[in-house]
Amino acid sequence: MLIRRFICLAWATSLIPNLDELMSRCREAGYIPASQSAMHEVEEEEREHALGHHSERLAIAFGLLKIGPGVPIRVVKNLRMCEDCHTAIKHISVISNREINVRDRLRFHHFKDGSEQSYCLKTTALYSHSTSLSKIASEGDD
Ligand SMILES: [Zn+2]
Repeated sequence: MLIRRFICLAWATSLIPNLDELMSRCREAGYIPASQSAMHEVEEEEREHALGHHSERLAIAFGLLKIGPGVPIRVVKNLRMCEDCHTAIKHISVISNREINVRDRLRFHHFKDGSEQSYCLKTTALYSHSTSLSKIASEGDD
């Protein structure tokens, strides 16, 4: 099992070109970055938010580089994941054909084929209905 902690900022910064390329492919697939007002107020990551270089996306970019095809990518984050990352990671799961699991401060999020299911960490019960990219697109058409 490959475990990498994103403590070294300089090291994580070296992954930014990979992440930028990944997000460019997501935009080609229909991803539209959320406005700043739609994002959570996570002080430690404000600067990252301005650039879209959120730690979980850097970790996923690293996972896609280093973890072989077909192996799920698991990320643990000690803050809550913002709404834009939910949308971005749904797209990443499609374009990379990869199962991605992100555990944040409150929930466990499972992404596969553009869909997401969230579970509350305290109860392990299904926290909310699952969402998918096609559902989001149809909601936007209303
Ligand atoms: Zn984010």
